[in-house]
Amino acid sequence: MEVVTKPADEDRASVENLDPQFIAQQRFEQAAAYIAGFKEGLIDFFKAPKRTIGVCFPVEMDDGTVRTFHGYRILHNHVLGPGKGGIRYHPEITRAEVASLAALMTWKCAIANLPFGGAKGGVICDPKVLSEAELRHITRRFISELGDEIGPQTDIPAPDMYTDERTMAWIYDTYDILHPGQNNLPVVTGKPLELGGSLGRMEATGRGCLYATERFLAQAGLPGLSSVAGARVVVQGFGNVGSVAASLFQEAGAVVVAVSDSKGGIYAEEGLDLDAVSTQKQEVGTVVGTPDTQTLSNQDLLALECDILIPAALGAVIRYDNAERVAARLVVEAANGPVTLMADEILQAKQIPVLPDILANAGGVTVSYFEWVQNLANESWSLEEVNEKLRRKMYAAVDAVMGRWRTLSAGSVSDESVGASLEVNLRIAALVQAIEHVARVTLQRGIWP
Ligand code: GLU
Repeated sequence: MEVVTKPADEDRASVENLDPQFIAQQRFEQAAAYIAGFKEGLIDFFKAPKRTIGVCFPVEMDDGTVRTFHGYRILHNHVLGPGKGGIRYHPEITRAEVASLAALMTWKCAIANLPFGGAKGGVICDPKVLSEAELRHITRRFISELGDEIGPQTDIPAPDMYTDERTMAWIYDTYDILHPGQNNLPVVTGKPLELGGSLGRMEATGRGCLYATERFLAQAGLPGLSSVAGARVVVQGFGNVGSVAASLFQEAGAVVVAVSDSKGGIYAEEGLDLDAVSTQKQEVGTVVGTPDTQTLSNQDLLALECDILIPAALGAVIRYDNAERVAARLVVEAANGPVTLMADEILQAKQIPVLPDILANAGGVTVSYFEWVQNLANESWSLEEVNEKLRRKMYAAVDAVMGRWRTLSAGSVSDESVGASLEVNLRIAALVQAIEHVARVTLQRGIWP
């Protein structure tokens, strides 16, 4: 468990618990308190994952040595349909983290109105030091260990941190070898285009963020900011999600003034040349050093004055010890869990609304759903069709959350601004919306037997 200490502040708790499962459960409880007549037993059912699989397997490395790896696949809930969610490769993965991310997927799919439950997986490994062959061996062995626990109608993996379409191709291939004679394409999404992938999947999370932000600004607006055009944007993280979000926001007329990666951040008052940033990233391995930019630390980047701050990398980056410095007017969570519990409170007190992850980054799983539907029908849709369907899904999700936020905060809104309500924030509204949906369907299906 990681703990952040800020002993100078006597008035608040001096430590912040960053355990992701603790945060997920606290948030769940915050939201559950707003749900009238929520059955006690269901609260307990939704708090814990339905099924947790932990596996351990040996892999022969390139140098002939053998190493043992540990992995998880956790299904949080499958009331709405088969489990859905990514598989991440990272050295610091914990069971608690995977469980909390699986729960997040349940709520994300519910908000996006997808016929999926929530799941997540992970293998504890450092992809930065593994060769392609080693990664392939780890992937194949992990998927074969999971056996029939994944499947086109039971649990469908996808890319997540440090996994990509290449990884998804190996997952498909492994599953297909173990289950010959049937259409196995829908067992995994985020596959390469030529192997049943969908147009638009790679950009879907970033594009979904843009659509969610556009709709939010058009609906609620912030004083002097009713569209993305002209907004000054800061993106933390320049991986698949962050780099795509930066380009799409810029295309939509925003001025992207700063971006960062794990090595640091860069800033340009008049807006960054994103092609130059991508070239620098490809050639040097970091955005730092892009010509005509000022270098700054990741912490200073998070504190830049801007209209929209998009954390698009790791979890728990805006927290008790730095949230006070955030000077954005809107935070859009492209990553999963970038804002902690205490940071939520601080941002709310500063009247900075946060478009929560389960809404803002639902574009990825939404286009995964489109891929799954195309695979089931052996069809392939045009990019325009995918993007238009994504836009409609994201707009509908934002409308639903905004609607729920309005009804929840009736009486507690002191002015027009969404950041002004001190009682209910958009995260709580989104969670309430999602939990109510899953609870209703659970009761419609009837508690077995
Ligand atoms: N890993 C992504 C997420 O956290 C996508 C999941 C999916 O496409 O199933 O939303």
